[in-house]
Amino acid sequence: MRITAICEQAVRLEGAVANAVVSFRDHTVSLVAVVSDQIRDGRPVAGIGFNSIGRFAQSGILRERLIPRVLDANPDELLDAAGQLDPARIAGVALQNEKPGGHGDRAGAVAALELAVWDLNAKLADLPSGAYIAQRLESTPLANGAPTYAAGGYYYPEDSTARLKDELCSYRDLGYTAFKIKIGGASLAQDLDRIETAIEVAGDPGKVAVDANGRFDFDAAVTYGNALAKYNLRWFEEAGDPLDFALQAELAACYEGALATGENLFSSADSRNLLRYAGLRHDRDVLQMDPGLSYGLTEYLATLAAAETAGFARSQCIPHGGHLINLHIVTGLGLGGCEAYPGVFQPFGGFSSGCALVNGNVTAGDAPGWGLEQKDSLAPLIAELVA
Ligand code: MG
Repeated sequence: MRITAICEQAVRLEGAVANAVVSFRDHTVSLVAVVSDQIRDGRPVAGIGFNSIGRFAQSGILRERLIPRVLDANPDELLDAAGQLDPARIAGVALQNEKPGGHGDRAGAVAALELAVWDLNAKLADLPSGAYIAQRLESTPLANGAPTYAAGGYYYPEDSTARLKDELCSYRDLGYTAFKIKIGGASLAQDLDRIETAIEVAGDPGKVAVDANGRFDFDAAVTYGNALAKYNLRWFEEAGDPLDFALQAELAACYEGALATGENLFSSADSRNLLRYAGLRHDRDVLQMDPGLSYGLTEYLATLAAAETAGFARSQCIPHGGHLINLHIVTGLGLGGCEAYPGVFQPFGGFSSGCALVNGNVTAGDAPGWGLEQKDSLAPLIAELVA
């Protein structure tokens, strides 16, 4: 078993949506192919991965540092005891001579590569990645797909509660029963109108989450928390800076509802500090670390173990990133749910025609691996990358 090539292409996200902090107009994603010497149907089997959504492509780090290290390594050092490519070993080789700490863009670059290896292994096992992960890690997969909420409610150049209502109704018409919208990009009064619109569409405040994307200082976080308390929302996400654990802890001390955070922590070390110092409550709060932003699935397993040691259940782990890779990870590891971006972030957001949405649960389909080739918007990009 050998890797014969590793390719990377930066792909621009479509759309001009914004949250309280960033516009996604110029965002890109690194699409990575790890090509093997294994032949199926007359063609080399290639594993495909990408670094989730919400950051940027990492072409430089991948092409100048990570990919050359893996291709220059002794091929036997990349294999596990069974002779399969070992995602953990490959991530380790990719990070040779890199100092610990400073988990920024490098974490996404490694993740795209590491997740491509998981895809390759699942394809060689002829299993969907969710089933492959459950088998390899001896975890209990979700039997009926992943409970999935539609994440939208971004701020648009031409925005109104009528536009928001139309958007959420379109998700409801697709079969989604839970929603998340952005807050913090408008006045509090406007945001409360938006929240009430979302509750009206959902029919239940427990089906509506809100996300401030780290916008607030402590006073604004508490002001919003006090205004949100009466609604009993599903959760209040990323009130303050993702690394301000003191703010998170002070908010947890005065806001009784569920809080959610973690999508902008890019290592298990950072996540352990969150669990130690941010006052999170293991009877209600939600952890959103995203494998595609944080060194891949191997690192995510360490984060998950730390969360479980701290008393959190897998049902409280709902990774950021509404796409096929996380759908399979959630399903295979038996996590609490998945995000979906039915209207935005193409070509990566959302699922494929092989996936089914029933009663708010999404099943991942039977295609081997992550099934990215079954997604119409991605298939031509993958074909071009591996050609
Ligand atoms: Mg978020």
